[in-house]
Amino acid sequence: MSDKRLAGRVALVTGASSGIGNAIAAKFGAEGASVVVADIRREPKLEDEQSVFDRLDAVGADYEFVEMDVTDEDAIIDALETAQAEFGGLDILVNNAGIYFQNQAHETPIDEYDAIMDVNLRGVFLASKHALESLKVSDHGKIINLSSIYGLVGGPNSAAYCASKGGVSNLTRQLALDYASDEINVNALAPGIIETAQNAEWRETDEELLADWQASTPWPRFGTPEDVADAALFLASDESEFVTGHVLRVDGGWTAW
Ligand code: NAD
Repeated sequence: MSDKRLAGRVALVTGASSGIGNAIAAKFGAEGASVVVADIRREPKLEDEQSVFDRLDAVGADYEFVEMDVTDEDAIIDALETAQAEFGGLDILVNNAGIYFQNQAHETPIDEYDAIMDVNLRGVFLASKHALESLKVSDHGKIINLSSIYGLVGGPNSAAYCASKGGVSNLTRQLALDYASDEINVNALAPGIIETAQNAEWRETDEELLADWQASTPWPRFGTPEDVADAALFLASDESEFVTGHVLRVDGGWTAW
């Protein structure tokens, strides 16, 4: 018998071509899962990021790419059908796709607000809604949502993002209650500053903001996608069987002040 922690499991990871989703997909594949990589693009967003497909090939994982926008309900249904057709079902849904813009409320264009809410919150709701049927018949059903430290506390210049991630944190707790009797674990991750494309521009160009982020992070470095993937693996594995409705901070102490 395989000693891999996700042997025989099927995972669908949204936004898996870049950043945190890329690392989660690669880690789950290395731990024996078959992975549906669901994203609006195939290539990673940063030049120095390794392709998720190369990473999955390197560990000999089974995978399928589906071009999927989490704001498109039909595309979500198609992606879930791919999981069923190619791998026989679904055990783990990782709602990772997300976008971030910086603005205070009074200067946020309503299109920007709508876009953030559509991807970050409505996308999580829709993918969860349609995955639940498969997760109910799985013996290892898990939903892992990407919230944020900004889904637990406020953050400057991030009104729409904070609203969306606050929604993700509480949707996580709500889903955990409704599906506990089906033994589906529903948890979230709340990363702090993780070095990905989402914040690369500010890290590279805004010294003041970079200094603020460093000062707010007690741990002497920012996080990596692998830090978050390690926590996701715990939430996807049998070791978190009795953990549900939890928002796990992976933030180097940002919210410990
Ligand atoms: P990223 O920009 O590196 O990667 C996001 C991925 O999502 C990309 O591959 C992108 O193509 C995909 N995506 C974007 N919109 C999509 C859509 N509509 N449908 C499907 N895929 C879509 O970002 P990241 O930093 O890896 O962020 C991953 C998640 O973690 C997000 O939900 C983000 O809000 C959250 N998060 C990130 C940080 C951080 O510091 N990087 C902190 C807290 C939370």
